[in-house]
Amino acid sequence: MLVSLEQIQTVTVVGAGTMGHGIAHVCAQVGARVRLYDAIAGAAAAGLAKIARNLDKGVELGKVTAEARDAALGRITAVAELAAACDATDLVIEAVPERLELKREVFGVVDRAAPAGALLATNTSSLPIADIAASVANPGRLVGMHFFNPVHVMKLVEVVRHASADAAAVALAVAYAEKLGKTPITVADSPGFASSRLGLVIGLEAMRMVEQGVASAADIDTAMKLGYGHPMGPLELTDLVGLDVRLGIAEYLTGAIGPSFTPPQVLRDKVAAGKLGKKSGEGFYRWVDGKRA
Ligand code: NAD
Repeated sequence: MLVSLEQIQTVTVVGAGTMGHGIAHVCAQVGARVRLYDAIAGAAAAGLAKIARNLDKGVELGKVTAEARDAALGRITAVAELAAACDATDLVIEAVPERLELKREVFGVVDRAAPAGALLATNTSSLPIADIAASVANPGRLVGMHFFNPVHVMKLVEVVRHASADAAAVALAVAYAEKLGKTPITVADSPGFASSRLGLVIGLEAMRMVEQGVASAADIDTAMKLGYGHPMGPLELTDLVGLDVRLGIAEYLTGAIGPSFTPPQVLRDKVAAGKLGKKSGEGFYRWVDGKRA
């Protein structure tokens, strides 16, 4: 029997990178004991340091009290072994790199180590949830919980329902996302879900417009910000997400949906040149010390 919302007291986050540390942050803020595991030694501790910095910023901005920051930090533990991190847990959220085999391998271990009633969730942004769920004995308890970056700021969570997901697991994921202060939407297990599919079409078209000299990257971004009220333009967003990440998703969606997702040459060239966006210092913009140059 699946845990209830009230029973979700311990949350295991697998992968402490861009998304994992943010997920750990928001779960701790609503009172969960969080175990943060990463396969790379030191990565969970680095994730914890990032959470501390983000919480400090929250205190500076008056959004978080110093007591709440300290309490949230006190609830997060870096755990060095995956099976130990899943022992007696209530919810496991996986945020390892976007590779199906890796996710299946992780859930194989999680499935054996976590209680049978724990809810399992993957933060994949594009892989079929059914294929990931097939790696566990009871696929019905595994759903997609697709958070957005930065997790402690962005309000959307796509809860992704594959064909054999238990209705109770979907409802629990929706309820927990709400508890986190997010707005969940429920999406069928289809390529790119709702947000990646639509967001990528805009991003790829913006890149084609740069290629064709229609306007500069900055002007295209301004068009979407001022003309459509987007908080950020599609090319700046691409720099934040990572050009390599967007290329991978575009290639996958080209196969899964069709040629409207064919990656533009400018995207391939930039990735080949190591221009991956903010994380490498250059993408469609130049970045210095984490800020646009
Ligand atoms: P990332 O590369 O920043 O972090 C992944 C972390 O997983 C790394 O710290 C890595 O050491 C760790 N890892 C690798 N193998 C592992 C294993 N076997 N066990 C535990 N940890 C392992 O990646 P990310 O951007 O956080 O993406 C993680 C997932 O979230 C992907 O599925 C991605 O598609 C999805 N996602 C990313 C974004 C985004 O904007 N970056 C947004 C939504 C969803």
